[in-house]
Amino acid sequence: MSDVNKTLFRYIPSVDEVLNQPKVVSLLSSIPRSLVLEAVREAIAHIRDEITAGNLKELRDGNFRDLLTGQVVDRTVQNAQKVNRPNLRRVLNLTGVVLHTNLGRAVLAESAIQAINNAASGYTNLELDLNTGKRGSRYAPVENLLTCLTGAEAAMVVNNNAAAVLLALGTLANGKEVIVSRGQLVEIGGSFRIPEVMAQSGARLVEVGTTNKTYPTDYRNAITSETALLLHVHTSNYRIVGFTRETSIAELVALGAEFGLPVMSDLGSGSLVDFKTLGLPGEPTVQQVVKAGSDVVTFSGDKLLGGPQAGIIVGKRKYIDRMKKNPLTRAVRIDKFTVAALEATLREYLEPENALGKIPTLSMLTAGREKLNQRTIDLCEKLRRRAGDKARFNTVETLSATGGGALPTAELPSLAVEVLPLDLSVTELAGMLREEEPAVIGRLQDDRLILDLRTLLPGEDDLLADVITRVLERGGVAAH
Ligand SMILES: *Cc1c(COP(=O)(O)O)cnc(C)c1O
Repeated sequence: MSDVNKTLFRYIPSVDEVLNQPKVVSLLSSIPRSLVLEAVREAIAHIRDEITAGNLKELRDGNFRDLLTGQVVDRTVQNAQKVNRPNLRRVLNLTGVVLHTNLGRAVLAESAIQAINNAASGYTNLELDLNTGKRGSRYAPVENLLTCLTGAEAAMVVNNNAAAVLLALGTLANGKEVIVSRGQLVEIGGSFRIPEVMAQSGARLVEVGTTNKTYPTDYRNAITSETALLLHVHTSNYRIVGFTRETSIAELVALGAEFGLPVMSDLGSGSLVDFKTLGLPGEPTVQQVVKAGSDVVTFSGDKLLGGPQAGIIVGKRKYIDRMKKNPLTRAVRIDKFTVAALEATLREYLEPENALGKIPTLSMLTAGREKLNQRTIDLCEKLRRRAGDKARFNTVETLSATGGGALPTAELPSLAVEVLPLDLSVTELAGMLREEEPAVIGRLQDDRLILDLRTLLPGEDDLLADVITRVLERGGVAAH
């Protein structure tokens, strides 16, 4: 170690000295002492690392003690403010990915937010039948809505669709065989893989057909006395195109009827509205799959439905009743907030035209080009006026995405603002925007930051402009 380093080490302030500095003392009025202490320790450790790395040579002259203490205090203040913020924070989503799993998937309808608020701030009849005064079912508030909207006989709801699939397979096929097409052995982001879920459920996977072609005869030839279920998985996040043959749900249902076997459909995103009528690629709706004769249908609450995280199961009463009795159901049950938000979301679907305006997921997916373009042009002009000397701003054509493993082939043309910072690299800009309150997440593309306004909520435009201006004004200094 050099002599300079040795000298500097002697002047590093102690934890107590830092805690007594006026700036740090004033932190203690708003930030818990334990967090401030942690911030001091980190700041001291950091200054040690800086000295060891030889980054503090410029301190050669002057009052080492004051200089080092000043640096440790400044870093302590920064650290303390950082650790005092909530860890789960608000994000402005400029990725253009409507159902972004990393950003919490669906944004809820106003009515659903209100319902969660009510459920949180008082007692509810969650498991009390107000007619009889006896114990009720927590599915009751959504069961009728689900059967009414989908045409199914019965319904239940669990924690998420992965749990729904696990529960359905474990109930209907434990220790038995389930036949699936090789073309449908999907993996969903976050390591949900059909073969692995199958193994967990205690069911044995029997793969039939090839990746691109599976005929009804392939299923027929695989049926044995061990077969318990024919499973259809909607390839929600990819499409097999070209030379293909998929056995339809109706064909599976006919086969099931012949052999006395139930047919289950894992729909993944599961929509209650036909996206084809909205100019988007068609997804089979839940109603269509129920009508085709599927005995059990599972789908997510927070994908195309636009509700809370949930795994919805609809189908024939005799199968749903068996699932309700499975002890696993208790382990994957939904909480009162999910019941509240799901009921409110489903009520919006009672009038489908209404749903488009009320459910943010649907509004974003079907956002009119004109309005979106005008918003983007307005933002771009505002940014040019306010921060035109710090970055170049242009409008560019881009494609938004549905995300959440839904509508994989949907192309959603969008106009975006591209930002080319002048004093910062685009990676530095993106990093600084992530640190802001609210955080701003865009898309990095060829040395520019793309801001797709399709996923920016109404009323967030000014806030976004403020955050970007603020960060660009702080500029290169803060980043280095
Ligand atoms: C998304 C998806 C799942 C998992 O649903 P979660 O609600 O995320 O648990 C299962 N199957 C398919 C086909 C999916 O698309």
